[in-house]
Formats: sequence, C-alpha cells, structure tokens
Amino acid sequence: MMKRTLAIIKPDGVSRRLIGSVINRLEGEGIRIAAMKMIWMTKEQAKGFYKVHEGKPFYESVTDFMSSGPCVVMVLEGEDVIARYRRLMGATNPHEAEEGTIRKEFATDVEKNVVHGSDSEETARFEISYFFSELEITGQ
Ligand code: UDP
Ligand code: MG
Repeated sequence: MMKRTLAIIKPDGVSRRLIGSVINRLEGEGIRIAAMKMIWMTKEQAKGFYKVHEGKPFYESVTDFMSSGPCVVMVLEGEDVIARYRRLMGATNPHEAEEGTIRKEFATDVEKNVVHGSDSEETARFEISYFFSELEITGQ
C-alpha cells in the first residue's frame, strides 16, 4: 500500500487564508505532513502538472487558475493516505461534496475548489516528483 500522496492548497485557498484550516483537517485525521512548501507555478508548470487533462474543456482555465497565485504543496503520509485524503477532500464539484469534507466546507466552485489530491499510486508518484526531490521529504 502506497503511503504517500501529493496535496495542494490551491491559489483560492491561499488567498482566502484557508491554509491553517486545511492543515488542521489533515492533521486532525491523523495524516502526517512529510514535506511542505509554497510555490507560484508558471502557466507552463501548471500545464505540465495537469497534463492528464490536456484537451479537456477546462484545461486552459484550470491551468490559468493554478498559475494565478501561490499554492502550498505538501507530501502527506499515512496508512491508505491516497484514498483517505480523497475522501476528506470530497467531490470535485463542491455542490456534490459530502457534508464534513474540505470542499463542502470551504469551496464554492468546481474549478476553485481549494484543494488537490492525487487519485492513484501512479499519479501520486508523478505528482510528488513534480515538486519534490527525495531529499526534501522527511521520513519518520
Ligand atoms: N475542473 C474544472 N472543471 C471540471 C473538472 C475539473 O474546472 O469540470 C478543475 C478543478 O479545479 C479540478 C481540476 O480541474 O480539481 C482537476 O480535475 P479532476 O477531474 O482531476 O478533479 P479532482 O481530482 O481535483 O477532484
Ligand atoms: Mg484529479
């Protein structure tokens, strides 16, 4: 079982000062932050990150959004953390997200939905290595 995933507090979450609230939710679930930094992606970096969505109708807009301001990127660790963090995030569209999820509580928009989380082991590996070298990730 892969024990690491990539989380992002997106530019809307940072500008709305939700960093602390999101981190509280993660830590409250017993998830450990193994690496964390603030970055401001260029449009090209955002396009590379979301390459799986290239050609979809929302690709241009979401990569504009992701490069519109700083993000907090984190490597999360914990048992079954990919699925657990996805459940904690809630559905992509906050209007469809379950009560108690981060997106239900904080997000208002299908695009500006506060958080990102890897959706599989394969994407977690790609996404973690997109932002972090192994040296930057703390073990325990
Ligand atoms: N997105 C959007 N419109 C859509 C679907 C997705 O703007 O119809 C944006 C949204 O910010 C989402 C991101 O593109 O978080 C990546 O989409 P994905 O389907 O991977 O959703 P996620 O894995 O983030 O729930
Ligand atoms: Mg996704």
